[in-house]
Amino acid sequence: MKHLTLANDKTIPALGLGVYKAKDGNEVQQAIEWALAAGYRSIDTAAVYGNEEGVGAAIRESQSTQQIDRSEIFLTTKIWNSDLREDNVEQAFEDSLQRLQQDYVDLLLIHWPVAGKFNAAWKHFERFYEQGRAKAIGVSNFMPEHLESLLAEARIKPMLNQIEFHPYLQQRATVDLCRREGILVEAWSPLMQGNLNDATLSQIAQQHGKSNAQIILRWNIQKDIVTIPKSTNQGRIQENIDVFDFELSPEDMASIDALNRDQRIGPDPYTFSF
Ligand code: NDP
Repeated sequence: MKHLTLANDKTIPALGLGVYKAKDGNEVQQAIEWALAAGYRSIDTAAVYGNEEGVGAAIRESQSTQQIDRSEIFLTTKIWNSDLREDNVEQAFEDSLQRLQQDYVDLLLIHWPVAGKFNAAWKHFERFYEQGRAKAIGVSNFMPEHLESLLAEARIKPMLNQIEFHPYLQQRATVDLCRREGILVEAWSPLMQGNLNDATLSQIAQQHGKSNAQIILRWNIQKDIVTIPKSTNQGRIQENIDVFDFELSPEDMASIDALNRDQRIGPDPYTFSF
């Protein structure tokens, strides 16, 4: 596993398991058990996914069933928009830790840039970081204007920005700003939610004897973009981490870079209304 380094020198695995839409209870626990057995050490959840209890249970169980110490796992969760709107950030984080049955998370993110609220939320995040309850703090879905507003007021810079990022949506302005500010970029929906039919990707995949999904994940990793593909299927969980035994050429990388169409799957962070 390759690791990337956050601005506070903490490291994060370049590839982790996303669990959006994985059902709480058996589905999410089974997925994490398979993922840990396959070599994953990073899990990305959120309060709004409704599966923090199952995520926490799977992490605790892995200590006895797979002898994986908590310190080996990188756990991310996120504070939801309604908690920013209602100035309920302290309680929301407390509730997440309780559901996860953890006394800290490795990374805590503001899930969406709720206008007029994210700067105040960030002050709580800085405190969580200083208390050691969040070992790293960051944001999600922050576009350049959101980042600039936050950076103007923050005492501690966000260490990571998790954004929709895949071959059809490459967000160059946001990625460039993050790089200049020492903020790692993490890709959500890296696999375009499973819509992987693309002639260029298929051609590169064929050359390397890999799947289209593996080509995209490898492209993320070679760009130093953290990636968190979601799967609850054992075979695909294994397939998605099997990306460390080959390398894309500069030409392959350029061909995938050229696929950008600024095409979102998810909501636009400038206009979302939830
Ligand atoms: P992904 O791009 O990871 O795609 C997941 C879909 O692709 C699932 O339907 C999965 O099905 C399928 N899939 C997984 N692996 C393969 C494969 N090798 N071949 C073919 N199909 C495959 O989408 P997500 O939207 O889930 O994004 C990933 C993670 O990012 C989320 O789980 C979440 O943690 C995070 N996220 C964050 C957001 C934010 O606002 N911060 C928003 C959205 C996501 P199956 O399970 O059956 O394998």
